[in-house]
Amino acid sequence: MSDPRQELRELTAAFRTHLEARGRGGLIGVSRQSSPVPANAAPVAPVAAGAPAMVAEAETLMPYPTPPPVMYDEGTVLHSGRGLTALHGEIGDCQRCKLAKGRRHIVFGVGNPDANLMFVGEAPGADEDAQGEPFVGAAGQLLTKMIKAMGYERSEVYICNIIKCRPPQNRNPELDEIEACEQFLRKQIAIVQPRVIVALGKFAAQFLCSDNTPITRLRGNLRTYHEIPVMPTYHPAYLLRDESRKGEAWADLKQVMGILKNLGLR
Ligand code: URA
Repeated sequence: MSDPRQELRELTAAFRTHLEARGRGGLIGVSRQSSPVPANAAPVAPVAAGAPAMVAEAETLMPYPTPPPVMYDEGTVLHSGRGLTALHGEIGDCQRCKLAKGRRHIVFGVGNPDANLMFVGEAPGADEDAQGEPFVGAAGQLLTKMIKAMGYERSEVYICNIIKCRPPQNRNPELDEIEACEQFLRKQIAIVQPRVIVALGKFAAQFLCSDNTPITRLRGNLRTYHEIPVMPTYHPAYLLRDESRKGEAWADLKQVMGILKNLGLR
């Protein structure tokens, strides 16, 4: 190619075509993170003599490419803390479902707005409703231990639930409640853009995997949500009731640690 301006025009056109194809697939925009080369990418061309840096690069191929950004509202997404603050404002004094009547606090989410690792639970319990923070009761204390065992502080990850208000007597969330609230979880994911999500328990796992398979069969099997790896595992409240399942949960979390390590994030 001899004319740099012509080359730029062609590159721009190719990029536009690429974005339009992503848009047709429901994904608009470009990731803010650089893409590692997927492990199954075509072999790298033979390295020319005198180019050892290329060899080193080829030897650190990573198996999980950067997921394309999850978008919402067909518009620009504010990322990070500004995005979460705006979303919190959008929820406002939410009256979108019947849980509003009995709640004390909307339990939005907590942690690092730029977290690589996100944990998604089911719904707030009594302690969370009282304090306005997810996973602060007994199950939350176990979750905090699990996070620490993975080598993270609670403040380094992002923690939220599908449902932002406590169901009465901690009953299971109902379909209309999930339908009213799911937009906010989707937006939290779009804003934070985690590199891996851990789905805690049946409701989070089935929602994020779009799959009604029982959690006993979903757990431990890596899935994706808009190309973001999702690891379904047992809910910490269940692990408190049946400690014999802790080994399986730890195996699931070790897989997550492996993914983050492969991404060069740990
Ligand atoms: N269980 C959940 O699923 N979420 C919480 O925040 C607390 C308990």
